[in-house]
Amino acid sequence: MNAPIDPPRLDDVHVTLGEDYVDIRDSVRRICSQFPAPYWRDLDEREAYPTEFVNAMTETGFLAALIPEEYGGAGLPLRAAGVILQECHNAGCYAAACHAQMYTMGTLLRHGSAEQKARYLPQIAAGELRLQAFGVTEPTTGTDTTQIKTRAVRDGDDYVVSGQKVWTSRAEYSDLMLLLVRTQPSDEVARRSDGLSVLLVDLREARGHGMEIKKLAAMINHNTTEIFFDEMRVPVKNRIGPEGKGFRCILDGMNAERILVSHESVGDARWFIATASKYASERIVFGRPIGKNQGVQFPIARAYAETQAADMMLRKAAALFDAGLPCGEDANVAKLLASEAAWHAAEACMQTHGGFGYAREYDVERRWREARVQQIAPISTNLVLAYIAEHVLGMPRSY
Ligand SMILES: Cc1cc2nc3c(=O)[nH]c(=O)nc-3n(C[C@H](O)[C@H](O)[C@H](O)COP(=O)(O)OP(=O)(O)OC[C@H]3O[C@@H](n4cnc5c(N)ncnc54)[C@H](O)[C@@H]3O)c2cc1C
Repeated sequence: MNAPIDPPRLDDVHVTLGEDYVDIRDSVRRICSQFPAPYWRDLDEREAYPTEFVNAMTETGFLAALIPEEYGGAGLPLRAAGVILQECHNAGCYAAACHAQMYTMGTLLRHGSAEQKARYLPQIAAGELRLQAFGVTEPTTGTDTTQIKTRAVRDGDDYVVSGQKVWTSRAEYSDLMLLLVRTQPSDEVARRSDGLSVLLVDLREARGHGMEIKKLAAMINHNTTEIFFDEMRVPVKNRIGPEGKGFRCILDGMNAERILVSHESVGDARWFIATASKYASERIVFGRPIGKNQGVQFPIARAYAETQAADMMLRKAAALFDAGLPCGEDANVAKLLASEAAWHAAEACMQTHGGFGYAREYDVERRWREARVQQIAPISTNLVLAYIAEHVLGMPRSY
């Protein structure tokens, strides 16, 4: 008989201080060097999808970092996936398409049936299928996710879905979408979070058959859309997890999501700090480098200090997650610190560049627009603070 396995203990969790996953970092840097700033600038101007970048990340297996080896993925820890995203952003690339696949797939991995996992995960790992769309947000309910109105009514072996989503990113470029729907009216459920379910929608089949996708003109090139459902049919066998418990299935992945996107913020912050420091040292005004002025160097130095603190917190959050220990507090604190460090670094970089910060060819304005979104999506700063106030500090729920 096997000896019982001891549960993980806090004392056993270790955080690496130096450059962990050196081989992965080197490899991601090599890929990113093939996609320099003009590539991203051009995509931004055309509002186009980074197909070549996503293909390169898929071919090297990085997009399948979190898919277990038995399904053809790399089976890496969350920290390694975070390092991949961080290096992309550190190098000036924009990894939204990659992070979406990483955390959207998590819901399928944790709550999908054996049959669903065997059907989809190997194809996602091989790059034959893209699962990059996640339809949660609705125009009339926003952050109040439990009150979503998109309705799925059972009809034989199908659900019939009607309603609307907004800000569904990459839906035009994904084969599959995870969709949160209401399967029981909100006035019939015991708990606010009950009555919701997760459906895996095959976008290739659904388009033109009860589903219409419209591109949303937005401040950044995030390939985001609004989606309209008018009696779209989804087979019941495509439901992920139990009926009525979809909110739980989605919620489960929130810590992983926060940790992953925080790695991107730390990468952004490092890019801004390096770009600002270089420019401040080279730009001569009044006969000397502008970086000689403390008014120029202090905001950059402060952003650096904030980034180092965020990085430490993030390493801790990822280590706890990978050890299977509770990490809600740490994931939220890391998310707050990382998104704010990135924004302060973006502001310092913009200000350091003066008027040239507005010139497209310097890339500062584009990356500044991109860094800002982390304080709004996937979760806004206020909601992160509300989590800390309620769940860590024990204050009353504010909403
Ligand atoms: C570029 C981009 C990509 C996105 N991609 C996706 C995607 O792929 N899939 C998806 O489902 N969604 C996506 N979103 C949506 C994103 O998750 C939401 O915008 C975000 O959760 C906030 O919701 P909202 O915009 O409706 O804001 P609202 O809920 O209307 O909130 C507006 C403001 O009020 C504050 N607020 C609201 N309630 C409270 C409260 N109780 N206490 C304190 N403050 C409060 C919020 O913090 C926020 O600052 C994306 C958004 C953007 C901008």
